[in-house]
Amino acid sequence: MNVFEMLAQSALRFPTRGAVYRGQEQVLDYAELHDRALRIGAALRGFGQPGDRIAVASENRVEYLEAMYGIWAAGMVFVPINAKLHAKEMVQILDDAGASAAFVSPKLADDLADALQGSDSAACRLLRIDSGGYRALLDTEPDASLVPQDSAPDALAWLFYTSGTTGRSKGAMLSHRALLAMTMGHLAEMEHFDENASQIHSAPMSHGSGLYIPAYIARGARQVLPTSGSFDPAEFLDLCDAHPSCGAFLAPTMVQRLRLEAERTQRRPTGLRSIIYGGAPMYVDEMKKSLAVFGPIFGQIYGQGEAPMTITALRRQEHVGADDAVLGSVGMPRLGVEVRVVDEEGQPRPVGEIGEVICRGDVVMSGYWRNPKASAETLRDGWLYTGDMGSFDTHGRLTLRDRSKDVVISGGSNVYPREVEEALLTHPAVAEVCVIGEPDAEWGEVVVAFVVPVEGGALSREALDAHCLDRIARFKRPKRYVFADSLPKSNYGKVLKRELRLQLATLEH
Ligand code: AMP
Repeated sequence: MNVFEMLAQSALRFPTRGAVYRGQEQVLDYAELHDRALRIGAALRGFGQPGDRIAVASENRVEYLEAMYGIWAAGMVFVPINAKLHAKEMVQILDDAGASAAFVSPKLADDLADALQGSDSAACRLLRIDSGGYRALLDTEPDASLVPQDSAPDALAWLFYTSGTTGRSKGAMLSHRALLAMTMGHLAEMEHFDENASQIHSAPMSHGSGLYIPAYIARGARQVLPTSGSFDPAEFLDLCDAHPSCGAFLAPTMVQRLRLEAERTQRRPTGLRSIIYGGAPMYVDEMKKSLAVFGPIFGQIYGQGEAPMTITALRRQEHVGADDAVLGSVGMPRLGVEVRVVDEEGQPRPVGEIGEVICRGDVVMSGYWRNPKASAETLRDGWLYTGDMGSFDTHGRLTLRDRSKDVVISGGSNVYPREVEEALLTHPAVAEVCVIGEPDAEWGEVVVAFVVPVEGGALSREALDAHCLDRIARFKRPKRYVFADSLPKSNYGKVLKRELRLQLATLEH
């Protein structure tokens, strides 16, 4: 099934219901969204073939949705590009994908056009979404018969470009079947809503927030695009007062910012139904505070571009009265996904012991686009090797440690940065923290903590050292502290450890 069908069904069922909102204002109803996507699809087919890769480089905007569904209506492959990337990085993705066209927002258009010149993708057609050319696409006659009805199960729907923390970014190939498996899993297990619900897109639509669009479209619910185009906690709270039954996907760092804003202003939005968080570690202390402020509205997912949003989950009910071990876990395997923790030979490890997390199921990617070597390394015997380290407890709950490359090996002992971070975050004057390893002649590596103090908070190395000694083994405690005003983060809210490593290399001892 082509995921476009879910929009076609909702347009039949709810033609006049609001589909897309900019802030509080309705922009498109379901019949209009469907019609405009068909027009864009027909225009794309005017100059391309099913299977062509079409990119979207834009902050969250109304046009994002029509472009996305237009691409699917044409039987083409949606290639979202993180709007915060450098134009040169965007061109690398266009080159790798062999994209024949790219929708681009006005904000990004000039830089991208410059970077494209002389590149392998110079022939890639730029469709600037405020231009006359874009409006001309919408004048094309809609043609529902172009929507592929008999897609092969592995027909590609989405190329998900990994954040490329190690080397070149790779395109995880997600089929329509994978997106459908993800959507059904979401509606079955994570959130229960009907057409009187709203999805607030405060997190980038090139990532988790976009992956949940099909679930909301299938229900005939609202898509709400903040006018700021990004995450602004105050605006998010306003939108939750203005729209019914709001849900959102947020990165853990966004949850923290939202909680701080709600505490500061004493606001408790009436329409906030659900926040799904994931994509990076959620610290136990922060989740406790967020539960205290918002109540039990949280669900956690663990996934990756290669198995979008769907490896394990800590469901909403499991947050209620949960102890630290449960809140610090990523919950249980998702319906239809098998999850194992294995050793270097791929053999299951006993309960409680750490190994690499692997999984299989319909949601898993079909491989990396035009990269058989990386595909063969990552997909083995039908299993996706996630690169994440974790262990199961006796109840079948998975706790993630750190990615194998982030584990610090100091004096021959493994130190999992997350454990040290959790300990430091229980200190009342610590707002944010990130732990990495620093090469060291004597120890191999030593543990280094980057610490952001709370506003007006006073912190000393000695106080933090004493705090750690009270909570974790002596050898795990940081040998070095670096105090900072903020931590570098990606558009998806992930702390960029590679940047911290670079910073560290330039800092004096
Ligand atoms: P991405 O492909 O950009 O979504 O990144 C996926 C990676 O983020 C995973 O392989 C994990 O390392 C990390 N991740 C995703 N979800 C969680 C979670 N709930 N808790 C901790 N780390 C997570």
